[in-house]
Amino acid sequence: MPSPENPALHLLQTTFGHPAFRGRQEEIVSHVTGGGDALVLMPTGGGKSLCYQLPALLRDGTALVVSPLIALMQDQVAALTQLGVRAAFLNSSLDARAAFETERALCAGKLDLLYVAPERLVMPRMLDALAQSRIALFAIDEAHCVSQWGHDFRPEYLQLSLLHERFPSVPRIALTATADPQTREEIIHRLALDEAQVFISSFDRPNIRYRIVDKSDARTQLLRFIREEHPGESGIVYCLSRKKVDETAAWLATQGVRALPYHAGMDTASRSAHQGRFQSDEGIVVVATIAFGMGIDKPDVRFVAHLDLPKSIEGYYQETGRAGRDGLPADAWMAYGLGDVVQQRRMIDQSEGSEAYKRVSLTKLEALLGLCESAACRRVRLLEYFGEASAACGNCDTCLEPPETWDATEAARKALSCMYRTGQRFGAGHLIDVLRGRITDRMTQWDHDKLSVFGIGADLDDDAWRNVFRQLVALGFARPDHEAYGALRLTEQSRAVLKGEKPVEMRRTVTRARGSSRKRVQAALPAGADEALLGRLKAWRANEAREQSVPAYVIFHDSTLAAIAAEQPEDLTALATISGIGAKKLERYGPAVLCVIRG
Ligand code: ADP
Ligand code: ZN
Repeated sequence: MPSPENPALHLLQTTFGHPAFRGRQEEIVSHVTGGGDALVLMPTGGGKSLCYQLPALLRDGTALVVSPLIALMQDQVAALTQLGVRAAFLNSSLDARAAFETERALCAGKLDLLYVAPERLVMPRMLDALAQSRIALFAIDEAHCVSQWGHDFRPEYLQLSLLHERFPSVPRIALTATADPQTREEIIHRLALDEAQVFISSFDRPNIRYRIVDKSDARTQLLRFIREEHPGESGIVYCLSRKKVDETAAWLATQGVRALPYHAGMDTASRSAHQGRFQSDEGIVVVATIAFGMGIDKPDVRFVAHLDLPKSIEGYYQETGRAGRDGLPADAWMAYGLGDVVQQRRMIDQSEGSEAYKRVSLTKLEALLGLCESAACRRVRLLEYFGEASAACGNCDTCLEPPETWDATEAARKALSCMYRTGQRFGAGHLIDVLRGRITDRMTQWDHDKLSVFGIGADLDDDAWRNVFRQLVALGFARPDHEAYGALRLTEQSRAVLKGEKPVEMRRTVTRARGSSRKRVQAALPAGADEALLGRLKAWRANEAREQSVPAYVIFHDSTLAAIAAEQPEDLTALATISGIGAKKLERYGPAVLCVIRG
């Protein structure tokens, strides 16, 4: 067979079934295939895997892929095997015999790709096996795990610089979806990648719709969101504490949502069972702490919801980034309220960290609060934070329904003077009672009904006042004091507002059920797609996945099934043109798929 003009493209089309490269994939593949080192920064779902999988097939020998998570390795190997690629993994889940077989296959040159856990790769026995084998390249996935400052730090990653010392002529490619410049520098430094070419892609995730709603009754708001917009679909709900994870999952289950908890306090067996069901069943909602995250390779997560505020924009972006890896529409939804601000500040104030650490944490929190309170495009703010300029996106809540702002100068003055008159010793709950003129036990106990501020805020309701206090804290005009159980205190900046020297603009509370941003993001069917056919294709896929004990998306992605339902190809040649159907899958599943199409 004559060798094709562009072997990388040819392989992409025949083996992987994709018609064209995405973004910078082609450059990266060609650089690494040519023997160069690379550092690849691409958002989740950007298509990092192909950047080492294609060079692995184009170069002689076996590519070693370092990956921190066992579940992720297994799925990658299952997916590659479906494509007819010779792939295997080595990790602690294998018994001695299976591990031995795999090592033998490596030395005999029978593998295109071998996924290895980091601690295993640097063991003397493994290094000896490598010395006897032909190594095509080293790929270091989730390379930000070398960063000691990130929450995914894996000490074993630090030893990976050893690969360069032992095998200086083998190219290395490090990949991550973490965008900040500090992490990038640390990866280069710790993995000795000074010579590597750095490939940075845009971090925008245009298919994700960002929404941040005012928290009133978070649980009910969440349930409504799931029921109205994502019934029967896969999603992740993040909570701050293990207790809240357990309670929320249990409650959702009583409401008919297939919800499962996941946190570091659970035993390993139930944790991996829950993760396993999330990966392979359809329509599971995992309620989790951030312990559930890295290594979730599920492409069809349709929403990520936050019931609590994350610590930083980095955290928020990483967590929301787990939605919609398949490129189809997905939602990032968060309920946010005064309690979140108070809680996050308390965690910083009471942490054991140094003053410098607390300062950094506070700055990060403030940037996130800025995003939450922003009346401008969320995406512009997010990307700006990562150093990327962009224009209003049209696919976030503030773009779809520009929030109204109001002149809150008077309300802010009333709120601040209420704090002042009551001695800066009370939280928002009591302050609102004072403003609204409510007689409570506390009121009479403290004689607060005798104050000049008693009842001066009857014009706004409780929700509106809660929003005023939240924004006062977020804007720096008030600060919760954790030594005093979250009592709100004045700040340096309050004075100008109190004196009437500084006007205050606030976002108006968004009450529920306003138009367009609440409309379901349809995991949009392409024009002309036949929904009944899509249903039949999914049923066929579910059956196939069960028989082979692999996740459904390993057989075909949703986007591939949707394209089939739209184009309804009549023969194998037509079927082969659909993205996601390479030669092996065409041969294996083509006839069955044509049968399903014909009914
Ligand atoms: P990452 O590891 O960067 O999160 P993946 O490598 O898992 O992303 O790819 C994300 C999705 O994009 C996968 O479903 C993959 O099949 C798809 N994909 C990657 N490259 C292409 C391409 N060139 N054409 C079409 N689909 C692609
Ligand atoms: Zn926008």
